[in-house]
Amino acid sequence: MELRLRRHSGFHPRWQCAACGEWFVIDNVIASVYDSSGVAVGEVCERCAAASADELRARMRNYAGALLAQAERLEWIAREDVRVTGRVVAETPARLLGEREVGMLV
Ligand SMILES: [Zn+2]
Repeated sequence: MELRLRRHSGFHPRWQCAACGEWFVIDNVIASVYDSSGVAVGEVCERCAAASADELRARMRNYAGALLAQAERLEWIAREDVRVTGRVVAETPARLLGEREVGMLV
């Protein structure tokens, strides 16, 4: 893994750290992580950029664990039936409604 630093000026976008997942604003320096084959992984926050190698790895592993837990939860939820609840308004996309409900909106 390589951490590349470069100067930045002008627009300061809000970004999600590729290493820890926290949202941050890119200021005057952009820190980007590349894997060992030179492929960009993404931009990292100031805390991750300033972390020691061991701390950076720990932050990445912690974020990877959270992503895996979220992926597992999504996989579990995807097995459930889908039902639409709530108030129906004219702007409700037809694809969310059955044919009968769409006819009732006209
Ligand atoms: Zn970070």
